[in-house]
Amino acid sequence: MKDIRVFKFGGASIKSAENIENVVSIIQKYNDQKLMIIVSALGKTTNHLEQVVKHIANKPEALKKLEIVKKNHLEIIKDLGLEENSSLITDLNDLLVEIDWALDETDAEYDYIYDQIVSIGELLSSKILAAKLETQNQDVNWVDARGVVITDDIYREGWVDWNRTTKNIETNVKPLFENANYVISQGFIASTMENNTTTLGREGSDYSAAIFSFGLDAIDMSIWKDVPGVLTADPRKFKNVTKLDSLSYREAIEMTYYGAKVIHPKTIKPLQNKNIPLHVKSFIDPDGEGTLISDEVTDNYPPIVTVETEQAIINISTKDFSFVAEHHLSTLFQQIAKHRIQVNMMQNSAISFSVCVNDIDDRIENFTKQIQASFKTKVERNLELINIRHYQKDLVQKLKEGKIVKLEERKGDMIQLVVKDIPKMERI
Ligand code: ADP
Ligand code: ASP
Ligand code: MG
Repeated sequence: MKDIRVFKFGGASIKSAENIENVVSIIQKYNDQKLMIIVSALGKTTNHLEQVVKHIANKPEALKKLEIVKKNHLEIIKDLGLEENSSLITDLNDLLVEIDWALDETDAEYDYIYDQIVSIGELLSSKILAAKLETQNQDVNWVDARGVVITDDIYREGWVDWNRTTKNIETNVKPLFENANYVISQGFIASTMENNTTTLGREGSDYSAAIFSFGLDAIDMSIWKDVPGVLTADPRKFKNVTKLDSLSYREAIEMTYYGAKVIHPKTIKPLQNKNIPLHVKSFIDPDGEGTLISDEVTDNYPPIVTVETEQAIINISTKDFSFVAEHHLSTLFQQIAKHRIQVNMMQNSAISFSVCVNDIDDRIENFTKQIQASFKTKVERNLELINIRHYQKDLVQKLKEGKIVKLEERKGDMIQLVVKDIPKMERI
């Protein structure tokens, strides 16, 4: 079989009929190649579906929110000229009915219901894109990612079972390329061994594409974004950013781990393990060079800044003010892992241990409650973690302006700052 390339299109690239047509034109440029196409939900659909789940206790309200999703999709279907495609309309209605049923499972665990409902976004978008490609006389096979990507049963953040998943790719996906150049599937969604739908965590579609790339031994993977490539910082937060033409896997892993939102952090490792190059390209300028992430190592990077918001510092000390010893740390880390607390930075002194963590849902409360018998805790919220790789002193100084630095750490040529805004005072 000819070599397979993997393309991933995110929500922004398919947020409207016009954008979907643009994606179709990008895909068609590669019509002599085998493409595994992974898509996210259309535009902000996942956020809208989250609203449906949030109103589960009030079904009429939840259905109102669902109506917004239905209307958006029907409008796009109409604008694409697909409203006469009865099998597409049937699929849409069937998928929306599944949400209606899930809303009746009020006794089920919240995270389980969440996954059953939000996963529908990717099923809808992939059906629509496949239908549009078919109108262009392209041979397309559609495959349900839930029959391919297998995870454990941690809903909203499933951990991939690589053995089962790669076997499924071999048996359920590879053969689909025998009679079609294009195979379409969904990012973000997966299932447990018992066939319950799971998701890989918000923004997880990049990771899905890497899972498929790994299993297919893809020759390369491209993720199509609304930016020219990976930039030295988020253009939504910083001026004067520049594009990085190439990055090593290691550099990309570090950047994304510390919050460069352009690529999901779990994406790079599977690619690195098989030495699959990753292109970050612009769907607005598809012929642009983009950024190439590969095993090539360069050592003259400019300063690269990432910012993670919604950070908290948990300061932990023993109740009797004895030293925080190894056996304490061992207990603490067990609880940190159990509560899925993501630690971005830690510091320990003789009598206290501080961690900077992502402040997600009520994970911190659950964690501190669990350890309260033996430890005293103090939590400080609404912080930012700024990471500056390959730092220059004057830039660090500038980034500290107007901030109180709560924690600071240097590792080689990287500096990390946990900061809080200095409260703005005005004279009366
Ligand atoms: P997708 O549509 O695939 O989900 P995302 O919206 O998740 O794409 O990622 C693209 C966005 O990532 C850009 O619009 C940009 O604001 C943001 N971003 C954050 N950090 C960077 C960076 N270092 N380089 C480029 N984009 C970045
Ligand atoms: N649609 C999902 C989300 O918005 C996954 C993704 O876009 O990567 O989080
Ligand atoms: Mg995204």
